[in-house]
Amino acid sequence: MEYQAYFRCFRGCPGSYSLYQVIYTCPHCGGLLEVHHELEPLQKRLGGSWRKLMVERISSTQWPYGSGVWAMKEWVVPDLRDENVVSMYEGNSNLFWAERLGKQIGVSDLWVKLCGNSHTGSFKDLGMTVLVSVVKQMMADGSPVKAVAAASTGDTSAALAAYAAAAGIPAIVFLPQNKVSPAQLIQPIANGAHVLALDTDFDGCMEIVKELTKDNSIYLANSMNSLRVEGQKTVGVEIVRQFDWEVPDWIIMPVGNLGNISALYKGLKLLMDLGITDKMPRLVAAQAAKANPLFRSAQQGFQKKISIEAESTSASAIQIGNPVSYDKAVQALNATNGLVEQATEDELANAAAVADRTGMYTCPHTGVALAALFKLVDRGEIKSTDRVIVISTAHGLKFTPFKVAYHQSVLDEVVSRHANPPVELPADVDLVREAIASRLGS
Ligand SMILES: *Cc1c(COP(=O)(O)O)cnc(C)c1O
Ligand SMILES: [Zn+2]
Repeated sequence: MEYQAYFRCFRGCPGSYSLYQVIYTCPHCGGLLEVHHELEPLQKRLGGSWRKLMVERISSTQWPYGSGVWAMKEWVVPDLRDENVVSMYEGNSNLFWAERLGKQIGVSDLWVKLCGNSHTGSFKDLGMTVLVSVVKQMMADGSPVKAVAAASTGDTSAALAAYAAAAGIPAIVFLPQNKVSPAQLIQPIANGAHVLALDTDFDGCMEIVKELTKDNSIYLANSMNSLRVEGQKTVGVEIVRQFDWEVPDWIIMPVGNLGNISALYKGLKLLMDLGITDKMPRLVAAQAAKANPLFRSAQQGFQKKISIEAESTSASAIQIGNPVSYDKAVQALNATNGLVEQATEDELANAAAVADRTGMYTCPHTGVALAALFKLVDRGEIKSTDRVIVISTAHGLKFTPFKVAYHQSVLDEVVSRHANPPVELPADVDLVREAIASRLGS
């Protein structure tokens, strides 16, 4: 095999480990691992040739290379056997020119990367296709692993359950009771996962699943497992490819456990290493003010990691107080002259509503990223001619109760400035005509 990838310690301890070995943290320092790709063999192929290969594969029916993730197989898990790939043709999500919203805020080159337009409705599919495929190969090769498990704020478990079901591998998911949306809860149930709703928060579920997966027969699918980062990093490559390999000025995304921003950086860094691009966009990590440990440590110049007990937020998928991938995120932000912003409940809900009025259908997390965008534009940090990408992490349809509550003006700590409740009328054509006339202002 010409291309080589293996786990190694993110902090640089010696040692390398097979991607098919059950290992999540460095045996020396207990820190995170990362998947390292030997660059030299990859660099033997010229940037132009890689670009051509990717573009040829994307959306083709040549299974599994038409998937946005597996089109980059050599950059993800090069030695995975094709028969073990578990794919739903994830990736290739549309990059939406948010023309009207951009005009409203004075940024004409504004784009929203709709990662929620995916099999289970969030970007978590990008990572899960990689993790479940590797587990399938491990099991095919006689590993004692018999199930996969994850703690989740909802979207991880939906993705894990779907991909595990497609592979015929049992999935166990741990959800904080009453803290995920009905859509997020029903997805793993429908896919036949073992769903355990625990009387705790996400961080509490994480503690339990870490204990349970210690004996190596249950494989941990949380983002401390750096295989997921390999799949998620493809979004960075995809955005650049969608601009014909031009690097944008800014990429803004909502963050919780900090795996996704680490992944975004890793994808962008690989493009630089392969000579495909020659600069980095500035990354912006957007947090809910109710769950803002990264924002707090950024204010202290990242001197140390801060952990808090996250408070309840509508942006439930990022209600995380003790982010696992802190070190990786700090590297990503430092290396890209990045920023951290936060959004209150009022700001995130109204930002989502403003975007919806221009035709989008944004989840609360995307609302957090948009609120951060609005603040950075107001502060003059983002300029009117900058090319800005907002990563929309999930589909708004997964968060119906949030949308309903907003338009009923009953969300806590939110003044619904763009509420648009239905007009209830008797079936009387004159009254209907009158109502329409008054609403259209004629
Ligand atoms: C998981 C998730 C995030 C946060 O990603 P992290 O890797 O935990 O930082 C943001 N938005 C949505 C919708 C998610 O599901
Ligand atoms: Zn180490």
